[in-house]
Amino acid sequence: MSIRTLVWGEYIHEQTNADVRSLYPDGMHTLIASALGEDEDIIASTATLQEAEHGLSESVLDATDVLIWWGHAAHGDVSDAIVERVQQRVWEGMGLLVLHSAHFSKIFKRLMGTPCSLTWREAGERERLWVVNRSHPIAMGIDPCFELPQSEMYGEPFVIPEPMETVFLSWYEGGEVFRSGLTWQRGAGRIFYFAPGHETYPIYHDRNVQQILRNAVHWAASSAIAWKGIERAPNRPVDQAPEPIEQRGLSLHQDGEEGFQ
Ligand code: ZN
Repeated sequence: MSIRTLVWGEYIHEQTNADVRSLYPDGMHTLIASALGEDEDIIASTATLQEAEHGLSESVLDATDVLIWWGHAAHGDVSDAIVERVQQRVWEGMGLLVLHSAHFSKIFKRLMGTPCSLTWREAGERERLWVVNRSHPIAMGIDPCFELPQSEMYGEPFVIPEPMETVFLSWYEGGEVFRSGLTWQRGAGRIFYFAPGHETYPIYHDRNVQQILRNAVHWAASSAIAWKGIERAPNRPVDQAPEPIEQRGLSLHQDGEEGFQ
């Protein structure tokens, strides 16, 4: 099995802030891709906001099983046409991992349909992540709980639709809790949101975080089927019904008619 995984980085903080650059000299996306590459089933590549079409051309997305998204300072600079394209691929079955401040990315908000807001505090406080779904594949090999010595607090209420599954729950030194590892499905595509990942702390160097991301790539890829029929809801006329039936009453609409294709 080869899971074609694309790590998308906004890649701004790493170029503008010396502290972030010292943690991630080649960008968070590059470090995440190399951590994923430790799994021989994952083929990881990278793309950034600054590339043409943000590195997310049709052909690149068509050859992507799982897309990972980290954004923060420039959500508004992501082209709506590209967001539309990514959404289409998720509906078709591409997995999507949404990291940290990408809770406010256009693609996540669009797929969730809610504000996706939360409370936050940047104080370098301790975060303890609890596995609340011990049998979930994303939590495989992870201890019942683990700690990140420095994290940004993300707190409830997290204004999202009720998740399909809650895998991790976080507690922060300051007392708040947060649903920090959540899944959804949209169309044929699986989505995982993972909260840790603030750019000024070495969170993507953490071995537990790296394992969670590798697990999540496997989980999200397992639904990667080529389902291309979502935009068209085709008419199946009487003579194509699986069992023979007779027409009763009117048939008002033609295949291809506006609003009914
Ligand atoms: Zn942050």
